[in-house]
Amino acid sequence: MAVTKDELLQRVEADKGKLIEFLQGFIRCPSPNPPGDTQVAVAYIRKFLEERNLPHRLVAPNPIMANIVGSFACGGSGRHLVLNGHIDVFPVGDGAGWSHGGPWSGALADGKIFGRGACDMKCGTTASIFTYAYMHSIRDQLRGKLTLTCVSDEETFGPYGARYLFEKHRDEVKGDTCLNGEPSSPYTVRYGEKGPMWLTFTVKTKGGHGAYNHVSKSANAIAAELIGKLKKLEKMPVPENNNLMTALDAAKKAMDKAYGAGGAKIVRTVTVNPGVIRGGMKVNMISNECSFELDVRLPNGVTDKDIIKGIDAIVAKYPEVSYRVDNFNPPSYCPPDGEMIQYVKANAKAIGGFDPMPVISLGGTDARLWRYHDTPGIVYGPSPKSMGQVDEHVTVKEFMHVVKTHVACAFDYMSRG
Ligand SMILES: [Zn+2]
Repeated sequence: MAVTKDELLQRVEADKGKLIEFLQGFIRCPSPNPPGDTQVAVAYIRKFLEERNLPHRLVAPNPIMANIVGSFACGGSGRHLVLNGHIDVFPVGDGAGWSHGGPWSGALADGKIFGRGACDMKCGTTASIFTYAYMHSIRDQLRGKLTLTCVSDEETFGPYGARYLFEKHRDEVKGDTCLNGEPSSPYTVRYGEKGPMWLTFTVKTKGGHGAYNHVSKSANAIAAELIGKLKKLEKMPVPENNNLMTALDAAKKAMDKAYGAGGAKIVRTVTVNPGVIRGGMKVNMISNECSFELDVRLPNGVTDKDIIKGIDAIVAKYPEVSYRVDNFNPPSYCPPDGEMIQYVKANAKAIGGFDPMPVISLGGTDARLWRYHDTPGIVYGPSPKSMGQVDEHVTVKEFMHVVKTHVACAFDYMSRG
């Protein structure tokens, strides 16, 4: 007899203790990036998969940053669903200030599970791993194929994780839809994201004695002026297609709520942040070198060429200035009303009473890689509020909600031909 979705969700509820225990143990495997060494956490996931005879293998272009990839075919023919989550987490500095026994405690207190990665994103990756296990247990009644990808090297947009899988094993991981559990808050489901472009600018002048202002221009003063002009890139017009415009208009309130007042506006505009400035040696000297790093975030509709064109027009007036692009990931989105979004909305409502609004995310996730390859990449996970902070945590309630929603969505997707 085929298992119903309700019966499957009852199984998840019955496994609550096991799920909490798994997430706690996962958090207790430190995997900060940098340095990005995920060996202990990878071994932990593999033990789970091995004990249940779940198909998987390691793809490790960098031996300390392995990726876990597993696939199985179901009873009927159908489409290919891919579950994706990352194993590495933000660093913790000296680890001071944490309650409940430090950043890797995995402590359960006041209905919350604490530790670095609890919300970004060991909660979501746990949802993927358990979804893989539950679907495997009923694979005969399902259709198509399911692939699990637990990757390393995500936090720094590194080359050894999901990017490597797309370069070398594209047919295995591309699939027809990707579901990812990065923090989104239960109130939003994400179908796209802005694109970061990181640049370094260098200003060089002759320099000199601070009282002899007439002999040389100041590299610091030029940098200050230049940053002011580069900030004006934020006013760049942004072309939007109708489909996206309508979805963004509808989600204004939800995005202001999720990202703070003003969030809905910056989803659709270029932002410019001078994250680092270094210049000068001494107060009474004219600085002869100043460098600064710029974090430009591109909304959908703006390309790297648009930004470079804008920058070149500004920089052309400053012969003392050179710059380079250090990193660029284009913005991405997929249809805001696609099939998986509908499943997330319906299941999140039925399971937790939430009505997630489809939105574009400000920060970056690996889901972008699927969108780059024309596969819808959908993100639904816990609240991002404590992400990267001291006492990062996920509530047990949200954790269970995310696991159940992922299981239900995979069930729906793989029950259809
Ligand atoms: Zn993340």
